[in-house]
Amino acid sequence: MALTSKSLFSLDGRLALITGSGQGIGLALARGLAEHGASVVLNGRDAGKVANAVAGLRDAGLKAHTSTFDVTDFRAVDADVARIEAEIGPIDILINNAGVQFRAPLEDFPEEQWERLFKTNVSGAFHAGKAVARNMIARGKGKIINIGSVQSELARPNIAPYTATKGAIRNLTRGMCTDWAKYGLQINAIAPGYFRTEMNQALVDNQEFSAWLEKRTPAGRWGYVDELIGAAVFLASDASSFVNGHTLYVDGGMTASV
Ligand code: NDP
Repeated sequence: MALTSKSLFSLDGRLALITGSGQGIGLALARGLAEHGASVVLNGRDAGKVANAVAGLRDAGLKAHTSTFDVTDFRAVDADVARIEAEIGPIDILINNAGVQFRAPLEDFPEEQWERLFKTNVSGAFHAGKAVARNMIARGKGKIINIGSVQSELARPNIAPYTATKGAIRNLTRGMCTDWAKYGLQINAIAPGYFRTEMNQALVDNQEFSAWLEKRTPAGRWGYVDELIGAAVFLASDASSFVNGHTLYVDGGMTASV
């Protein structure tokens, strides 16, 4: 296999579906992939939010499309993957980014929130992965990037069920690789540290937490969502052609340090 180093990171001609990309990390990754040449399909349950995000990317001269399935509605995922492939083209890259978080003392953790966390963060990623993998297997190539978390390596108070979902993502990534690499697929994960997004708004507003985070993180600060783009472009492009089943931590050194 010959690779030209100049085009290693190019995503020209590739189509990427990014779940949960109307805002936050998903939107930053969609923009980053599009700026490297990909056509991107933005997704989320809030059609207005997704439409605004798509309009913003198009205004910047990027190629963007809309998808509004809920990752917990497996029939809707299957139907929309079929629609995207028929109307726009083959999906080359899937980023399983849609996720939710809920905090509560473990002894009082509501069962419905446990179910919602696993159905969105784990089952949603599994099902969207399965839906695109069938076609990727038939074509003998494809990239799936699962968004995990440093929480797969750390335990923090009041967040154990979310932590468990992200541990599952780390091993789902290994399992997808084990089963699908032989068909030419690459499945890797990005595990972000702490980033300033809506999901973390309560923590961003909490000065005590920010002080702890700055002390606990070797880089001494929160991450900015654009700092995840490089990892996503690497894993989505030919630059990572022999990387498989790997989880890439983008966390300012948090998991390297006790
Ligand atoms: P946000 O809450 O800002 O964004 C989450 C996105 O997921 C929203 O666009 C939301 O859109 C979408 N979403 C939620 N549920 C569903 C669903 N059932 N179907 C489709 N889309 C859904 O979070 P972040 O951007 O911070 O997080 C993105 C990912 O990164 C998550 O997987 C999160 O766990 C992970 N992560 C985040 C970290 C951080 O520091 N921010 C750290 C580590 C991991 P809508 O509600 O419109 O459907």
